Amino acid sequence: MLSQVTPRSVAIVPHTHWDREWYEPFQVFRIRLVQLLDELLPMLDRDLSYSRFLLDGQTVVLDDYLEIRPEQADAITRLVASGRVSIGPWKCLMDEFMVSGETIVRNLQAGMLRASELGGAMPVGYLPDMFGHIAQMPQLLRLAAIEHAVVWRGVPAAIDQTAFWWRAPDGSTVRAEYLYGSYSNGRDLPQDAKGLVLRAVDYEQEPVRWLEVILNQPVTFFRSETASVVINDATKAVSWTGEVRLRAGSVILPAPAPGTRPGLFHAKEGQTLSEFMDRVGPALTDQQLVDVVKALHAAGLVKAEVKSH
Ligand SMILES: [Zn+2]
Repeated sequence: MLSQVTPRSVAIVPHTHWDREWYEPFQVFRIRLVQLLDELLPMLDRDLSYSRFLLDGQTVVLDDYLEIRPEQADAITRLVASGRVSIGPWKCLMDEFMVSGETIVRNLQAGMLRASELGGAMPVGYLPDMFGHIAQMPQLLRLAAIEHAVVWRGVPAAIDQTAFWWRAPDGSTVRAEYLYGSYSNGRDLPQDAKGLVLRAVDYEQEPVRWLEVILNQPVTFFRSETASVVINDATKAVSWTGEVRLRAGSVILPAPAPGTRPGLFHAKEGQTLSEFMDRVGPALTDQQLVDVVKALHAAGLVKAEVKSH
């Protein structure tokens, strides 16, 4: 079957996503951040084939790090200026529905300013972990001369491919990329070529029929905490105007133990329960599966199944 597939190319983006405080307090997470960057920066210097790292679209992680390691400012600036570490354009990744419009604008201004001091901002409105996005986001990005956005939750089912034109009510448009399966859709990638091809084909056999790019070159798997697979499909972009809000919602299960991550399960709007479970089911324990299904039903978060018999 593989021999019939058109050669495709897959971009793997080594990155981390950073919640400054969540299931651990700020300083506990900051220790991990310092460890991460203490390891990453020399690794980039040692290995020029480790070409790029995406530092989560927010400059605050650099300030959190530089408070502890001020001597690393030059190394960071050099790596950013050379394009190997992408930072900003945000100061932090806000919840767009919980802060004012002015806060969002100032967040972007502050992030771009700080990023410019550290080698330059990534010209992408990277918004990987919000619970949806305000309608004016494409307008704000374009006013900051940013033409691209990356989003995840809240993208409606009407967008049936990852690349789409996202338009604000005033007509400002950015090219948006939907992070199919989340920002960590490249986690645990196989390190052998055959496994990687099978994984890419697996994505293709999900409801993603738009994957029309080329897998024709060996891909080196760069070590990273998480990684995203980005599928570039500008040729068939659909469009969406206005707000992108997570109406279907997420189910959050309590963390199994202190210091561990709560389960967070995201359902795309309009997704059926079976589509959702096909996607997340294999990753869950039996008990989690039961809890998720109960919670989804209780909250009415996914479309009811229509049974023919
Ligand atoms: Zn997050």
